[in-house]
Amino acid sequence: MSLAYIGLGSNLSDPQAQIITAIEKLKQLDGGNVIKISSLYFSRPMGPQDQPDYMNAVVALETNKSAIELLEQLQHIETITGRIRKDDRWGARILDLDIILFDQEVINTTRLTIPHYGLKQREFVLLPLAEITSDLFLPDGDSIDELASNIARNGLKIHSKLS
Ligand code: ATP
Ligand code: CA
Ligand code: CA
Repeated sequence: MSLAYIGLGSNLSDPQAQIITAIEKLKQLDGGNVIKISSLYFSRPMGPQDQPDYMNAVVALETNKSAIELLEQLQHIETITGRIRKDDRWGARILDLDIILFDQEVINTTRLTIPHYGLKQREFVLLPLAEITSDLFLPDGDSIDELASNIARNGLKIHSKLS
């Protein structure tokens, strides 16, 4: 089994409901097992500012799939949730599921970059990730706790604890 961390984001069609439903779908994934779920967080959008705030969370998922198989499973969940892929990067979306980490694997292909390339710059990924891990290090040796305690909050707020 591998341990993956999945970043969830939504800013359309009742984001809280989208995130909760997506977590239920992650729990039902073939070959997977949800181990931990962070609190829900509100964050300011990246890029275009004329869109609603985001709701974010991070989930720890044990899986017997490869990273690319997991990406396909996540993209299937995005699609059945009604996400329409558009050209406007960082535009509003119903559901975004990113693989943040996959064990200590380092992958750089056109379809997959792991660890997620934005991890170290994104408070809405680092803080929920730090919440559900302790003493986690990236493949390059950086400490998640340290990165999380040094990053600007940029208005990030805990919305609610799920469990
Ligand atoms: P960002 O990648 O900056 O968070 P985004 O999530 O809005 O932006 P998407 O349109 O959801 O970007 O994804 C674009 C492509 O990124 C996907 O089709 C996928 O192949 C690729 N990708 C690369 N690395 C990853 C990863 N670690 N997790 C999910 N998708 C990834
Ligand atoms: Ca993303
Ligand atoms: Ca994505």
